[in-house]
Amino acid sequence: MEKIAIIGGGIIGMTLANYLDTSKFAVTLFDDQTGQATKASAGIISPWLSKRRNKQWYQLAKDGAAFFPKLIQDFALDQSIYAQCGTLLLRPKETLTDLAELAEKRREEAPEIGHIDLLSPEQTADALPLLKPADSLRISGGGRLDGKAYLEHLALRSANRKVELVAGHVTLKKSQDTWCIQGEFGERFFDRVVLAPGPSLKLLLAQIGYQADIRPQKGQLVVFDTPYTVSQEWPVAMLDGEADFIPFINGKILLGATHENEEGWDLTPTPEAYHSLTEGTKHFMAEPAQLDQWPHHLRVGTRAYTSDFAPFFGPLPDDASILAASGLGSSGLTTGPYIGYLLASYVNSGVWQGTMYQKEIGNYITRV
Ligand SMILES: Cc1cc2nc3c(=O)[nH]c(=O)nc-3n(C[C@H](O)[C@H](O)[C@H](O)COP(=O)(O)OP(=O)(O)OC[C@H]3O[C@@H](n4cnc5c(N)ncnc54)[C@H](O)[C@@H]3O)c2cc1C
Repeated sequence: MEKIAIIGGGIIGMTLANYLDTSKFAVTLFDDQTGQATKASAGIISPWLSKRRNKQWYQLAKDGAAFFPKLIQDFALDQSIYAQCGTLLLRPKETLTDLAELAEKRREEAPEIGHIDLLSPEQTADALPLLKPADSLRISGGGRLDGKAYLEHLALRSANRKVELVAGHVTLKKSQDTWCIQGEFGERFFDRVVLAPGPSLKLLLAQIGYQADIRPQKGQLVVFDTPYTVSQEWPVAMLDGEADFIPFINGKILLGATHENEEGWDLTPTPEAYHSLTEGTKHFMAEPAQLDQWPHHLRVGTRAYTSDFAPFFGPLPDDASILAASGLGSSGLTTGPYIGYLLASYVNSGVWQGTMYQKEIGNYITRV
């Protein structure tokens, strides 16, 4: 049986592990969790109104969002993990009218956008009572994914599917025709390896003579414990500015996230992040003082970015026994499950369907 190793147990690696055909492959996933973006993330799935000009990225994000019904069914995800709660965009009224037009146009190819409604200030406050009355645009197809809960759920499924999960940091080297993975356990050997380690891809590829166009970006968000028992029924609010407001179940409300390029790998929660996220949000709140009263903590993760802000994934051009995926940036919860699925389909069937979504992988990874 062919032995496959996956390095990285974030949203790509864990989805891939659960779509690989374990009757054909012996699958082992290595993950150390340090700085993992997936478990730190906010979880907004609503790519359709992005103004990014990169058409391949939009196609990937659109198809990634459309993939969710299949993902929910295949992995039996319940409402505590993924919910199609709708999204509210808060912007000046003129901007909302333009965005509604863009949404109508994009819905022709993305029916999963659902209903598009311009809400009056009163309707906005009715939809999400924590907000003060303001104009908004509601997209009924938007959703939220709890990255941490998703990974926990898939870890249980992996165990049932005989995927071996190994905790801890590993390094990589090629030993004749096989891949050698080293960790606290010693050395293990594999026929094929898939690297899904977020920004650490640069470090892992350097160990085997490649350089990668990837940089780390620190992201922080605030998690509030509020007394609201109905929080799961509320939509996600994408506020005008850096902060978005994401109600989860049991009164958990997330406010995020920062984008800190200079801080790179640092994982320290900072009072500055709390201050900038909450101050930017108070203006939208019906009772701004609540933000200072609810108990809270900060979550920190490291995103991966390429120079052109686009992700890449697939087999390396000069060695099909190694696959890599990274650079998902701020939209990896939207694109990550679909990327994991495309990688698994390729390994299972030999058919590669990832070309249309990205530049050639050689643009990002080169031999030193
Ligand atoms: C604060 C924040 C908010 C976000 N909000 C959203 C959002 O609302 N919507 C959205 O779509 N996206 C969001 N994102 C982005 C999204 O979380 C990421 O793009 C996505 O999770 C990246 O997934 P990944 O699998 O590529 O990497 P990761 O989730 O980072 O997983 C990589 C894993 O590889 C492991 N690893 C690396 N090197 C090694 C090694 N040598 N040995 C063992 N293990 C290793 C790491 O420890 C980690 O666990 C957010 C990110 C952050 C940080």
